[in-house]
Amino acid sequence: MPSPALSTAKAGPRIKEIHITPIAIVDPPLLNAAGLHAPYALRTVVELVTDDNISGISEIPGNRAIDEALAASRPLLIGRDVFQLNDIRQVLESNFGRETAAERGLTPWDQRKLVHIFSAIEVACLDIIGKVVGRPVVDLLGGRMRDRVPFAAYLFYKYEGAGGELGFGTDPEAAGWAAARQAEALDPAGIVAQAKAMCHEFGFQSIKLKGGVFEPQQEVDAMFALYEAFGPDVPLRVDPNALWTVETAIRYGRMMEPILEYLEDPVRGQANMAEVRRAVKTPLATNMCTTSFADIPNSIVLGSEDIILSDHHFWGGLRASMTLAGICETFGRGLSMHSNSHLGISLAAMVHLGAALPQLPYALDTHYPWQSDEIITAGRFTFEDGAVAVPQEPGLGVELDRQALANLHECYLACGLTKRDDEIEMQKKQPGWTFQAVRW
Ligand SMILES: [Mg+2]
Repeated sequence: MPSPALSTAKAGPRIKEIHITPIAIVDPPLLNAAGLHAPYALRTVVELVTDDNISGISEIPGNRAIDEALAASRPLLIGRDVFQLNDIRQVLESNFGRETAAERGLTPWDQRKLVHIFSAIEVACLDIIGKVVGRPVVDLLGGRMRDRVPFAAYLFYKYEGAGGELGFGTDPEAAGWAAARQAEALDPAGIVAQAKAMCHEFGFQSIKLKGGVFEPQQEVDAMFALYEAFGPDVPLRVDPNALWTVETAIRYGRMMEPILEYLEDPVRGQANMAEVRRAVKTPLATNMCTTSFADIPNSIVLGSEDIILSDHHFWGGLRASMTLAGICETFGRGLSMHSNSHLGISLAAMVHLGAALPQLPYALDTHYPWQSDEIITAGRFTFEDGAVAVPQEPGLGVELDRQALANLHECYLACGLTKRDDEIEMQKKQPGWTFQAVRW
């Protein structure tokens, strides 16, 4: 039975429409443990419209199966009060059932449905709630702890090209970051050149290299080359995406102890991570072995990592990410943020969350510099000294550019991609290449 307080509470705006728009955005040929980024990355933009015509938006990684599951949940969501997020979560959870960590998949990105769907609905509802009460989303998460949120330079080994259709976006006259963004980077010198151009353009003060592409010594050489080029005051991280064996991780992890801020997912699974963690002094971070609340008890028992890289798309939204922050605080874990190719709606949500976190000892990950498209009316976010200012406007503080959304949806229909598959893309460059969960 509802309590009297609940039954007499004023009802908030109710969800009247749910618009789900898959889009394809130009993405350069970035290499990673799972293969190669396709010429387009997929995102899905979700817009909720209330019965009093307030619009709220969100963005999640694009995947047709998740889009279909989201569309199928429409009847469960239409008519619900946007303030009743606990109720909405329960309704979705009882419909989809709890997902296990195994459903995440072996790839560096998460393939669970419920966390994506709840993230999409929750962020859009918070955007609406913010507009109703006239406060930015950060204030709905408990208020801002900082005005600017720092991000890290996210380096990739890559082939030449800027993404999109053959030759699209490549500019022989390009200079600075525009040139580096399309340049090949397949060795330590290429990585250092990429880092210099990216840090010069965006002012980043921490650097991460996506590893798991070449045999470990080459990637370790790249880290030492970065250390040589940027000095001891720029924190460095490398992420082999769990492709190393325990022996490899201990050997190369020890080698990099003097130069790393943290080592991200050197090995697969919590038990292996714990073994490496006991042998290497550098803190270990993860977005692969402890990726859901169900993973937390074993993480604590085993001691599998020092830092959890949250991602509101994968942890079920912004409020769930705040819950994760509390758990990390309780158990002495650091907290930072993981990213995938994304646009400004996701970045806005990441910035609101980053501003609300009690502690922010590490610059957050973002792929944003690698993207050139945008779907918000204000255009692309700017970085100052590597940081993004927290939007002050009510809600997320960004509005949908409907023409850009329509264009990028056309691009989605034309490109023919329905989910991310870096293995297929890599096979176009290296026939016979296959993903291996552990390679070195
Ligand atoms: Mg990672």
